[in-house]
Amino acid sequence: MNADVVFPQNATVPMERRIFVNRHLHMANISAIGFDMDYTIARYRRQAVERLAYDITINKLIQRGYPEEIRKIPYDPHFVIRGLIVDKQLGNIIKLDRHREVCRGFHGSTKLKTNDIRNHYFKKKTLWEATRFTRVDTLFSLPEVCLYAKLIDYSDAHAEFKKSYSDLFEDTRSCIDEAHADDSLKSIVSSNLETYLERDLQLPETLHRLRCAGKKLFLLTNSLLPYTEKVMTYLLNSFHAEYPSWRDYFDIVMVGAQKPSFFSHLEPFVEIDDNNQNLGNIVRVLERGHLYQGGNFTDLEATLGIHGEQILYVGDHIYGDILRTKKAGFWRTALVVEELEDDIRHTLTHAPVLSELETLAKERRYLATLAGWQTEEANQQIPGSSAQIHTQIAAEETRQQVKRLDEQMHRLGEVIDRTYNNRWGMIFKDKGHTTRFGEQVSNFACVYTGRVSNFGFYDPQHEYWTPPDLMPHEQDIRGW
Ligand SMILES: [Mg+2]
Repeated sequence: MNADVVFPQNATVPMERRIFVNRHLHMANISAIGFDMDYTIARYRRQAVERLAYDITINKLIQRGYPEEIRKIPYDPHFVIRGLIVDKQLGNIIKLDRHREVCRGFHGSTKLKTNDIRNHYFKKKTLWEATRFTRVDTLFSLPEVCLYAKLIDYSDAHAEFKKSYSDLFEDTRSCIDEAHADDSLKSIVSSNLETYLERDLQLPETLHRLRCAGKKLFLLTNSLLPYTEKVMTYLLNSFHAEYPSWRDYFDIVMVGAQKPSFFSHLEPFVEIDDNNQNLGNIVRVLERGHLYQGGNFTDLEATLGIHGEQILYVGDHIYGDILRTKKAGFWRTALVVEELEDDIRHTLTHAPVLSELETLAKERRYLATLAGWQTEEANQQIPGSSAQIHTQIAAEETRQQVKRLDEQMHRLGEVIDRTYNNRWGMIFKDKGHTTRFGEQVSNFACVYTGRVSNFGFYDPQHEYWTPPDLMPHEQDIRGW
């Protein structure tokens, strides 16, 4: 066995490999664990695969009549992050806080000024209709949003290029959907697995441990069998003597599952053979060693004889894997947020800067309050008296101190933002406040972590405890 596979026993789990808990989860009560494949069990080499998706989409746009010139537009892997919202009507990409207020945004690749944000999104209540706004929910969406922003720039600079911002988005989306549907993307990935996939040597051991603890494991992926077979073979075959094939790790294998409708419709399971041929059996009871396509969660639960909160589903898609799972069947959920590892590393590296920022914020709150009291005091003093003039000068000095602190905090904020993402800062936070994406993760994922093999660091019956919720008044009491 490879040394990398060994998990440290009784050692502290490295911070970036931990499992974080929103809702208490006792694994002893979990009898079955399901896994999504893409970006969950399968970790992609992101820059390579995103670049590929970007290039294929550009090719398809040119085939549809877009100017050849767009081929020169370079891909920027750091242009967007997960959790953003695309405003198709205005050609903007925006980041929302948990109150659904816009914290920052870009029109194409030009930063929106505070006044623009106010005019577009604060003058009247924004209705977040799907016809106008699209969520950047998955890592799959990043290249298309990057390309969309670049096409906005191109369109703004070329008056003869007559496409509405909405059309630009729909064309881009349609081309990338086509790249997925006609296999042009996956055929290249599956022929060059080493280039596009990252092999996690701790993954086979993690699955083995869960099985040894009596958990039933199932694979539930939207990818079809030919692609699933290649990816899973690359990731899991021949690592463990007890599991010559990847299929041996799983009690039930379901491909082409069509999530999220898997959780809301009653499509039957269709049995397929090793060659992806439909065997013509519409089945309600699933068997180990067989392959199924389509299906629904009700029949899956009936087959397992395991229901609701006894099932943990691990996926990367906040909507298709996590939110719908919760709404449909009350399964427990684990969200894989690949970006978390880098996020945590950055936070640890910049802990002194973050701490300095917190200290400055406290000082600013104190001085702003003091300036208010000084002004109030001056208003109550005899007009024109030396006492009043003295207090007014003191109030003005305090206000200037607040201003200097604002500038200092702004500079530090920019340093911190650049550490995570130059344009967007952190995924879960914006200037200390939780983003809409962070809020969704808190609300819908029972636990979240950077990769599936992080479960290997914990006892398979581990009890994951949530930290106590603290309301603002409780934080005040504790002096935070
Ligand atoms: Mg996925």
